[in-house]
Amino acid sequence: MKRVAVFGSTGSVGTQALSIIASNPRRLKAVLLACRSRIDALRRQIEQFRPSSVAVERPDDAVTLRREYPGLNVYCGKDGLNEAAQAEQYDVMLNAIVGVAGLEPTLAAIAAGGRGRTIALANKETLVTGGRFVMSAAADAGAAIVPVDSEHSAIFQCLMGNEGNAIRRIMLTASGGPFRGYSSERLRTVTVGDALIHPNWKMGRKITVDSATMVNKGLEIIEAKWLYGVETSKIEVLVHPQSIVHSLVEYEDGAVMAQLGFPDMIVPISYAFSYPERWATDVRNIDLISLRTLQFDEPAGETRRSLDMAYRVMRESEEGGRDSAAIALNGANEVLVRLFLDGRIAFVDIIDTLERVLDSHNSRSVKGIDDIMDIDGRARESALSFVGRRRVALL
Ligand code: NAD
Ligand code: MG
Repeated sequence: MKRVAVFGSTGSVGTQALSIIASNPRRLKAVLLACRSRIDALRRQIEQFRPSSVAVERPDDAVTLRREYPGLNVYCGKDGLNEAAQAEQYDVMLNAIVGVAGLEPTLAAIAAGGRGRTIALANKETLVTGGRFVMSAAADAGAAIVPVDSEHSAIFQCLMGNEGNAIRRIMLTASGGPFRGYSSERLRTVTVGDALIHPNWKMGRKITVDSATMVNKGLEIIEAKWLYGVETSKIEVLVHPQSIVHSLVEYEDGAVMAQLGFPDMIVPISYAFSYPERWATDVRNIDLISLRTLQFDEPAGETRRSLDMAYRVMRESEEGGRDSAAIALNGANEVLVRLFLDGRIAFVDIIDTLERVLDSHNSRSVKGIDDIMDIDGRARESALSFVGRRRVALL
C-alpha cells in the first residue's frame, strides 16, 4: 500500500489522481490533501478519502474545517503547505499545484522523505525554476522523480531499458493548441474563451493558456532538460495535432522509441503511481486504422517565439550556469497569463511582454530557494511595468 499526498487535489490533475486512488483501494491510500481554495470540493474529497491531514490556503477555511472534522489535522497558508510536505508520513507526493508555488513543497518532500520517497511531478514550474537544485537534492537524498507531464512520461518510458545509451535527439510532441496555423493578424483578435478551448486535453486554465501561446512547450523543453540531463540543442519540438504520439527518443544507432496512446492524463498519472508496474485503466484504445495517418509539422508562426525563448534561457543556463532567465520567464508568464485571464491584456501581449522581460533581464547564477523567489518576484514586477501602470493599479 502506497500512502499518497496529493498536492493540488482539487485541480484537473489532482482530481484525476484521486479517481485513480479510488479505483485502486488496495494499492493506494490518500493520506494528505492540499489545495488553495474550492473548499466544497475539498470537503467532498475529505468525506470520500478520509485523509489524516489537509492543507488549505486561507485561515478561515482552516478554522471551518477544524470545526467540521475534529480528528483532521489541518495545515494553513504557505508555511503550512511546506510543513505538511515536510512533516507528514507518505510514500508518494503527487505534486499537481500550479505555478512556482509547487517548488518549495517539492524540495521539502525530498529533504524529509529521502530514499524510498517518490515525487510524481506534474508541476513543471518546479523544474523550470529550480531544476538544478531539485534534481541534485533528489539524487543526494535518493528520492525518485517520476514525471506526470504526458510528454515527459512518454520519454521516461522510451528511456527504459536503454540506460547508458547515448541519445541523438528527444522529440517532444505538441498539439499546437487552439490557434495552430493562425496568422499574427488573427491572433490579435482571439478571446479568453477561444484560448480556453483546447482541441485534445481538458486541463486547468493556466496550462490551457500556456498551450495556446506554446509557452507550455517551452517550459517542457526546460523540464525535459533537467529530468534527463540532455542538452537543449538535442531537444526538438514536433507539432502533432492528434496528440497520439506523446514524445519520442532517437538513439545513436538511429532507432527511435515512441510512446503512443489515447490522449488521457489518466495514463501518465497512473504510471507515476504504478511504476515500474502497470495497472489496468479504462482509457480508450487508439484506433490507428481509423486514424489512417499521424501528422507531424514543424513549429511555425508567432508561437514559435515561445520555443525560441526557452532555448534562449537554456543557453544561458548551459553555457554559463546562469539559471535566472528561466525563472524570470516563468514568473513573468504566470503574471501575464493571469492578466490575460482577467481580461486586462490581449493574448498577443503575453509573448510580446515575455520577450521584453527577457531582453531587460541580466541573467546570473542562482544561490538557492530564496534567490529563486526573489528573481521570480522581480520578473513579475518587470512584466507588470511593461504592461503598464494603469493595469497594475487595477490588480
Ligand atoms: P489546476 O488549476 O486545475 O489545479 C491546480 C491545483 O493546485 C488546485 O487544486 C489548486 O487549489 C492548487 N493550488 C494552486 N495554487 C496553490 C497554492 N499556492 N497552494 C496550494 N495549492 C495550490 O491545474 P492543473 O491543470 O491540474 O495543473 C497542475 C500542474 O500540472 C501545472 O503545473 C500544470 O502545468 C501541470 N500539468 C497539468 C496537466 C493537465 O492535464 N491539467 C498536464 C500536464 C501537466
Ligand atoms: Mg505536457
